[in-house]
Amino acid sequence: MKRVFNFGAGPAMLPLAVMEKAQAEFLNYQNMGASIIEISHRSKEFDEVINSCDALITELAGVPSNYKILYVHGGAQMQFSAIPLNIINRNPSKKASFSLTGTWAEKASKEAGRYGNPINISSSADKNFNYIPAYDADALDPESSYLHIVSNNTLFGTRWHDFPDTGDIPLVADMTSEFMSRKIDISKFGIVFAGLQKNLGPAGLAVVIIREDLLDHALPETPNLLNYQTYAKEHSLANTNNTFAIYMMSLVMQWLKDQGGVEKMEGINNAKAKILYDAIDSSEFYLGAAHPDHRSIMNVTFNLANNDLLPAFLSQAESQGLYALKGHRVVGGARASIYNAMPVAGCQALADFMKNFEKNNA
Ligand code: PMP
Repeated sequence: MKRVFNFGAGPAMLPLAVMEKAQAEFLNYQNMGASIIEISHRSKEFDEVINSCDALITELAGVPSNYKILYVHGGAQMQFSAIPLNIINRNPSKKASFSLTGTWAEKASKEAGRYGNPINISSSADKNFNYIPAYDADALDPESSYLHIVSNNTLFGTRWHDFPDTGDIPLVADMTSEFMSRKIDISKFGIVFAGLQKNLGPAGLAVVIIREDLLDHALPETPNLLNYQTYAKEHSLANTNNTFAIYMMSLVMQWLKDQGGVEKMEGINNAKAKILYDAIDSSEFYLGAAHPDHRSIMNVTFNLANNDLLPAFLSQAESQGLYALKGHRVVGGARASIYNAMPVAGCQALADFMKNFEKNNA
């Protein structure tokens, strides 16, 4: 079996060692004669899984003791509803601020409008979201219950390098496409959340890290299973949670620890991204889509100067085991998603392919 280098944006490539471990113990978890997906979420074996996942996240991300780690169903977009339901009521004006850096920020802002009053304090829509607008503290309404940002914009290939200082107003960050890929100071945030399907595990579940003082503001109509307090009180097991996703995440976190942790991984991720950005910048044949100052190290977006060559570029890449490079329809072109599980060799193979394709088609 030859596995491809999978550049898909998510669900994304997971570390092979993790997949092999899951496969090896799938039918007979810890000699129980049963699979991890066949046993109770309240069993002592699953309890060990979720506790170890908590401990690994705490260690790897440096989660301070006044934060709770929650595993919330519905993936990342579900948190676009859960967050306003839980904290938009911090201020009676029910205002929440948003920086519009792409589709996911726009969707989150729109969803908050169901429960309160979103204010879009900045936007990069004027240039199809190819940059991160400067943060202007004066534009932040002091009555905002929070400021929501998308720290890494998966579709457009931009990221916030530094985060806004919002003072007493909690900063909420959608880190779906970059959580655990670079060192982040969690204490600067009220809530950090991420869908699992890029750097963490399978789709359909989100990890939410929330400062404890934000847990008791939920609107009365908040569904019990979207109330973060329910998750905090019952260790994310008020319902039959997605035990398999939590188990897979615990394996991915152990793998990340074995690789040397987040800081080590950040160094590797910087090197991987540099291989691709150098390939783009050293040629007139390729055009980077994101402003160079705001480039993501997880999603590398680019176009071919001659867009007519794109179908051939994508199909030849795929035939060489470089899979899922098509850009999102709102940006076009190509996108290489290079999450933690993508090895340096995958980026090198893509850069080599790009050079060859240019030679044959320029
Ligand atoms: N936020 C970001 C930054 C994303 O990249 C995505 C998915 N690509 C989402 C939210 C939506 O995730 P989900 O499909 O889990 O709702």
